[in-house]
Amino acid sequence: MRLSDLYQDIIVDHGKNPRNKRAVEGATHTAVGHNTLCGDQVQVTVRVKDGVIEDLAFEGCGCAISTASASLMTMELKGKRIEEVDGLMEAFLRATKTGETSEDLGELECLAGVCQYPARVKCATLCWHTVKSALTDGGEVSTEGGDA
Ligand code: ZN
Repeated sequence: MRLSDLYQDIIVDHGKNPRNKRAVEGATHTAVGHNTLCGDQVQVTVRVKDGVIEDLAFEGCGCAISTASASLMTMELKGKRIEEVDGLMEAFLRATKTGETSEDLGELECLAGVCQYPARVKCATLCWHTVKSALTDGGEVSTEGGDA
């Protein structure tokens, strides 16, 4: 597999040395996500205070793309307000589907290259669906059959 070269280093780095791979202490929200297509599993724990994401982290095992995406996501969402998550998620999903990026994505845009690999899109978006689930009703999400 060859990803879009420009950002490959960032993805490899985060895939190998993921940031925030741990459990959040005193988590207020949590959810588990599965990508049955690839075998990725991710558990997201979040601590929200006064509408702000004070801390979030992930655990689990998955391919380099899902790990890198989760790692980058935790860095990007930390300190954000809950109501900012939807817009960012939307921008990210659009980027991974079409390759079209917007400036609020920051380092997340390095994953836009997966748009060339439709089977990998679910790896990149799994953690986002999981965090979204955690922040709404919690529980489990699966990308199986769904349109990521
Ligand atoms: Zn995967």
